[in-house]
Amino acid sequence: MTHDLRTHLLSLKEELLARRARARAHLEPAGEPVSEDIEELFLRRQNDEVVQALALRLDIEVAELDQALQRLDQGTFGICVHCGEPIAAPRLAALPGATRCAACASLASAPRAQSAR
Ligand SMILES: [Zn+2]
Repeated sequence: MTHDLRTHLLSLKEELLARRARARAHLEPAGEPVSEDIEELFLRRQNDEVVQALALRLDIEVAELDQALQRLDQGTFGICVHCGEPIAAPRLAALPGATRCAACASLASAPRAQSAR
């Protein structure tokens, strides 16, 4: 089980690294002549920002997966860091880097929602 999980996390990480590499390659077109067309430059700049944001998000996801692998080593993977309860399997499947159970995560992301309920 633990071994399968590690393999799964590592393959996810490889996929993320490949996607990040593609995003980065897209950001740095090798030897491509700079266009003089202002509209094309503008469109490309906009596109670059999207790809840049994607690359940054992939950076974060890779870091989260690294932490997940670390917690796997420490035997704390799948345990909520906040309340110590096991994180639901479907949540972990969707978010392998999750460190909190759904309840604690929603508390953390919306601290005021509690009093409104
Ligand atoms: Zn929790």
